[in-house]
Amino acid sequence: MTSLSAEQWFSNDVLRWFEQHGRKDLPWQQQKSPYKVWISEIMLQQTQVATVIPYFLRFMNSFPTVEALAEASLDNVLSHWSGLGYYARARNLHKAAQQICSEFAGQFPTHPEQLMQLPGIGRSTAGAIASLGCGVPAAILDGNVKRVLARCFAVSGWPGKAAVLRQLWQLSEQLTPIARHDEYNQAMMDLGALICTRSSPQCHACPLQSACIANKQGQQLAYPGKKPKKALPVKTAYLAVQKKADQVLLHKRPPTGIWGGLWSFPEFSSEAELLTHFELANNEVRSLSPFRHTFSHFHLDCYPLLLCNANNASAQLADSSEQQRWVEPGQSLDVGIAAATQKILTQLVTEL
Ligand code: SF4
Repeated sequence: MTSLSAEQWFSNDVLRWFEQHGRKDLPWQQQKSPYKVWISEIMLQQTQVATVIPYFLRFMNSFPTVEALAEASLDNVLSHWSGLGYYARARNLHKAAQQICSEFAGQFPTHPEQLMQLPGIGRSTAGAIASLGCGVPAAILDGNVKRVLARCFAVSGWPGKAAVLRQLWQLSEQLTPIARHDEYNQAMMDLGALICTRSSPQCHACPLQSACIANKQGQQLAYPGKKPKKALPVKTAYLAVQKKADQVLLHKRPPTGIWGGLWSFPEFSSEAELLTHFELANNEVRSLSPFRHTFSHFHLDCYPLLLCNANNASAQLADSSEQQRWVEPGQSLDVGIAAATQKILTQLVTEL
């Protein structure tokens, strides 16, 4: 009888656990395809499975193939993303779908190196698409896998640091088996999501308990190391809400920058700038409730101002067009709306 290597023991334990406890009924696991795996992986970045499921089903219903996604308008794609946040993900999906159709004749590339050439696909997502969607052995290292490996092997330091990340990738590559790599990768993600959770790991139910160094040390929460805290800068935006009867005017944002390609209210850096732009006096605008919206790199303090003087010549506005649209605050929209804009529209339902 040949003896098993440490790596084989590790993956065998993980796979045995997967057989009994792994997730096998998620919508993107049914009639699997690289396209489904790709969409789900992108949606799952920064977002919980339970939140993703209805978005995924709606997205697949409207864009069942990579061709359908490539041919859709960006507005339509963004409207399917409204509420999920991190809209660059949706813009990149759209761009990558067009690239797959033009450069790969609609055939999904199957190797991680090719996949990583596409917008929005990093090394771990490429590994997941290759392994789970195309049957090509590849390692992954999403947030869940990082946590399990960092704890099990006591890898200290923040995984955002290149040296720590390198160490974790090395472990992941070393431990991922060739046979059943897809089940193993799914198992590692499931272990991180269901057992080795961020704040209350269930070590008694973990197949890695006897090997896990953090568990032995009683230091589970010390791994992975936290991102060094840095106060986020605060920016300010004065948002001009132009109204006509019970409608307000939304503008389409340029494709890049914050809220790129989404529909929102025109933004100014000060109230004075906004008043000058619309040739309005102080008493011709009304403040709506201000609020703070936090992006990954800064806080944005938003001050929505309702323009009351619709008769002012500069505030007279053209009809709806490709770039601007009159909407009723409560109506459902078929374009992408940023969370901050949605917040103002919700306020307006009772204000107008
Ligand atoms: Fe995570 Fe505990 Fe399992 Fe270690 S034993 S991998 S800390 S759940």
